[in-house]
Amino acid sequence: AAAAIAEWRGSAELPAPQPHDGPRGSGARAGNIRVCLRKRPLSERESASVGTADERGAHEFDAVTVSNPAAWFHELEYGDAGVSRLVKTGAVARKQYNFHHAFSEADDNDAVYGAVVAELVPFVLKGGVATCVAYGQTGAGKTFTQVGMQDRLARDLLAGAARMVARGKWPDAAAGAEFSFFENCGDRCFDLQNQREELVLREDAEGEVHVAGLTQVRVGSLEELHEKIAAANRLRATAPTQSNPESSRSHAICAIRIGAGDQIGTLRVIDLAGNERHESVDEHTPERIAEM
Ligand code: ADP
Ligand code: MG
Repeated sequence: AAAAIAEWRGSAELPAPQPHDGPRGSGARAGNIRVCLRKRPLSERESASVGTADERGAHEFDAVTVSNPAAWFHELEYGDAGVSRLVKTGAVARKQYNFHHAFSEADDNDAVYGAVVAELVPFVLKGGVATCVAYGQTGAGKTFTQVGMQDRLARDLLAGAARMVARGKWPDAAAGAEFSFFENCGDRCFDLQNQREELVLREDAEGEVHVAGLTQVRVGSLEELHEKIAAANRLRATAPTQSNPESSRSHAICAIRIGAGDQIGTLRVIDLAGNERHESVDEHTPERIAEM
């Protein structure tokens, strides 16, 4: 399989990648949702296992090919050898999926940020509400990506606020931003800025959900905001306990509010719980499935 995939990757059948700043990157695209794919590099362990067989005799291979804005998922084809017996045919099937952007293992956080996330900054500075969500299995690279986006968004949002203040468009008090970061697991929430203190979810008369008691801190400088983001992410990575869910089982919601007067925007960066593939009752407790 690995050889067949490598051959296809080197052939003219694989379209050349389109630049991320091409027509798809322009504001002319309809709608306000972008769906992007990011393939992370294989880990050392994964790289070492390519071409080797696992305990069931299935061979490991690098199964995803990216060429912006599409990705191909390769899988072994099986043929029918009689009554419900499937045998490998040796052929490799290929499915193509199209995205607004597809990033390969060669694209770093700057490339992802510049192509899809940076454009949220001017929108939020005009009072918009934007959300950047990472979805995927545990180990797919969600946290790696979202921590990278948080740091870059903090930098550009604070620089934007400073510019608005310098131009006299916002009062001095609007320099900086308001920051909150919490974790959600099932119907429980934990404040990542307050030693994982449990927070209460409340629904108001309008049906809007509020996280009661959530710490919202005012930060004035980029150093301060970066330190607060890093501290929350460190707390998230600490060992799980009864009232402290494993990070792969919880959603992390990081929010930066910025602006002045009726022009207050919010940017949320959400690192979702891992959407594991095998959600069967054999492998997971009912509680775990309800959480998912
Ligand atoms: P998830 O949050 O989806 O469970 P992680 O973000 O923790 O996954 O990524 C799993 C591992 O892969 C980590 O060791 C991380 O540093 C590494 N990793 C993920 N994405 C990349 C990338 N684009 N480049 C290099 N290493 C990455
Ligand atoms: Mg993670």
